[in-house]
Amino acid sequence: MSMASQNAASVVIEQLSLAYDTTDVLKDVNLRIEPGELFTFLGPSGSGKSTLLRAVAGFGPTPRGRILIGEDDVTRLPPWRRNVGMVFQSYALWPHMTVRRNVAFGLEERRTPSAEIPKRVDAALDMVGLLELSERRPSQLSGGQQQRVALARTIVVEPRVLLLDEPLSNLDANLRVQMRREILDLQRELALTTIFVIHDQEEANTISDRIAVLDEGVLQQVGMPMELYDEPVNRFVAHFLGTANLMEGRVETGDDGARFAAANGIVLPLAGESHPAGGERTAVFRPQDVAIAASGETVPGIVLTGRVQHREFLGNLLRYSVAIGEDILLVDDTHHPGRRAFAVGDEVVVGLRGEQVRILEP
Ligand code: ADP
Repeated sequence: MSMASQNAASVVIEQLSLAYDTTDVLKDVNLRIEPGELFTFLGPSGSGKSTLLRAVAGFGPTPRGRILIGEDDVTRLPPWRRNVGMVFQSYALWPHMTVRRNVAFGLEERRTPSAEIPKRVDAALDMVGLLELSERRPSQLSGGQQQRVALARTIVVEPRVLLLDEPLSNLDANLRVQMRREILDLQRELALTTIFVIHDQEEANTISDRIAVLDEGVLQQVGMPMELYDEPVNRFVAHFLGTANLMEGRVETGDDGARFAAANGIVLPLAGESHPAGGERTAVFRPQDVAIAASGETVPGIVLTGRVQHREFLGNLLRYSVAIGEDILLVDDTHHPGRRAFAVGDEVVVGLRGEQVRILEP
């Protein structure tokens, strides 16, 4: 593909801090995004995702620290000299211009030789599947098609980095899935370094090579989706990337290995690697790692007796809240038609296995 970007660049963010007036919005963020990577800034609303993306693009207050695109320190360059392409959530197209003109606009602005423009516009429109509709105006297009025009308009200038701020949030669920796939295909085809801002963890998990989780302007963890889910470093990440059971307690080492002594009296033998003993720690385990059975039946692991306090049907699974003494454990049980289900008030046993428990860093 002629538009494939040989110029995929890394993005390095070094000790980046940024304030609006006196409010610190980003606090000492350090990140390295590899060339061609599909990277996501994930976090709740107000965590600083957009501000960080905009800082890469060159919008907003000048930060402290450094931003490098490829070898170039762009921290003090204006947006138009950074060679990045940004697709905004509100992808405002020019309403009075055709699709073709909308896409050509950025090239004209950059004084691209006029003989070259139609070829490049065609290639970009072809890539997003809109060549046939190139003479329409935005008002004659569906939301998804308009989104594609916005994308074509951005990639036509062959940016070194593609930045997308919640680009799918205005689309309905089905279209979102379709657009997501298309953006992904395009990103792979162009091998373009791409950064998304997303607040929905499921969407982030589906598309990202790696994710940076932000909370209150502080980078919490960077990793592949499965790493973040399986090995969260703190409570925030454990909760934000899925449902988690958390228990407070201490790690103790005995003759037969390490164990976690929870404040609620539950003692879990811990498997595998070394667990430094002492100090208050938090144990994390996922609802699907807890087995559930009727009272009197057997379950693997440490067996605890409890009572179903609440039940949610989620289609593929039933999620139970089981009261165990003072504590509530969330337990997921896969659902099939005809499979037994427990009711609120039922006495049950649950089984916890140490190898599925993760002890968080202090
Ligand atoms: P996110 O994208 O994660 O929702 P933002 O980066 O938009 O978060 O915002 C981070 C914080 O910065 C929020 O507290 C927000 O209120 C504040 N903020 C964003 N833009 C501005 C602005 N132009 N002026 C002042 N404060 C702002």
